[in-house]
Amino acid sequence: MSDTKAFAAHDPTSKLVPFSFNRRDPRPNDVVIDILYCGVCHSDLHQVRDEWGGSIYPMVPGHEIVGRVTAIGGGVKKFKVGDLAGVGVLIDSCRKCNPCKEGLENYCVEGMTGTYNAYERDGKTLAQGGYSTMIVTDENYVLHISDKLDLKAVAPLLCAGITTYSPLRYVGVEPGMKVGVVGLGGLGHLGLKFAVSFGAEVSLITTSSSKEADALRLGAQHVVLSTDKAMMKKYDSYFDVLLNTLSANHAYSTYLRLLGLNGTMINVGLPNAAGEVQPFALLKNRRRMLGSGVGGIKETQEMLDYCAEKNIVADVEVIPMQQINEAYERMLKSDVRYRFVIDLKSLK
Ligand code: NAP
Ligand code: ZN
Ligand code: ZN
Repeated sequence: MSDTKAFAAHDPTSKLVPFSFNRRDPRPNDVVIDILYCGVCHSDLHQVRDEWGGSIYPMVPGHEIVGRVTAIGGGVKKFKVGDLAGVGVLIDSCRKCNPCKEGLENYCVEGMTGTYNAYERDGKTLAQGGYSTMIVTDENYVLHISDKLDLKAVAPLLCAGITTYSPLRYVGVEPGMKVGVVGLGGLGHLGLKFAVSFGAEVSLITTSSSKEADALRLGAQHVVLSTDKAMMKKYDSYFDVLLNTLSANHAYSTYLRLLGLNGTMINVGLPNAAGEVQPFALLKNRRRMLGSGVGGIKETQEMLDYCAEKNIVADVEVIPMQQINEAYERMLKSDVRYRFVIDLKSLK
């Protein structure tokens, strides 16, 4: 058992505070990772504050983990001590169902095992995430990380990256398509970079006029201010694909109206309340809505390799662990450019 330093939430309303707990000794297929950086996802905040219901405490959040392998179990084949390694949103699944066999562990029939706020498959060990100094994970759920990229900027790829890459690939974004990214936060800015790299004409739809210059720098052709009715009208029925990353409750119809014939709105944002969808807003142009949750291990590796090849990483603001509570408040005000990443040196 290894003593692990961390920050944890103990209930939905208190701040995160220092915490320590034991990680298990490595089993034959386990990889022990010294965590170097962990991204701060809005899902961490939703779960810490129990906005989706059923949160389990004490909770060590964090599922955008990169670090270095310090030990391996006797049966490990894919990693050796000294390798860079990453852990994302899932650390296990049933491994038997059709989705698992197809590499879609994120859609496991029994439900994937989350990196935190979940019990492991023994039904009793509480999984704890990456706001901590180390993690022990089965090698089949650990990703290889290229040493070509800036490690701290790679961490957000493990959730924000795969969550946007996977559905953009699934709907077949390609040159000539018009893609609108709704919300420029952690997910949005990576979604924008991917859509640009796939050759699409990309626009940002935002509530923050202050993000216009950044969006253009990241490769957007147009920036649409969603609070400006005339501008939204101008883009009525314009897009083939919308990537909706909004973390706050909103009316989906506002954005559905921007889709042209056979347009698809991909919903990855997870506000806690049902948003309004007007039947007529869906019917016009034969529009559709699609949900998508992170991605499987195989596709996550594919995405990481793609990023290494194309030099795609997140724009990050590095913080010490001790600043996490302030970071959450800033994230709620859409004041992050564009992902907070915790430097775990601050806990060691
Ligand atoms: P984030 O960095 O906080 O970005 C969210 C963005 O939404 C903000 O930057 C802001 O963009 C926009 N926004 C915030 N409040 C708004 C409001 N009241 N009205 C309109 N727009 C608002 O969050 P994130 O980490 O990217 O996560 C986004 C959502 O995706 C969260 O709900 C998260 O839980 C979810 N998520 C889902 C998956 C999945 O598997 N599907 C994976 C990870 C995260 P502008 O300033 O540009 O308007
Ligand atoms: Zn996440
Ligand atoms: Zn399964």
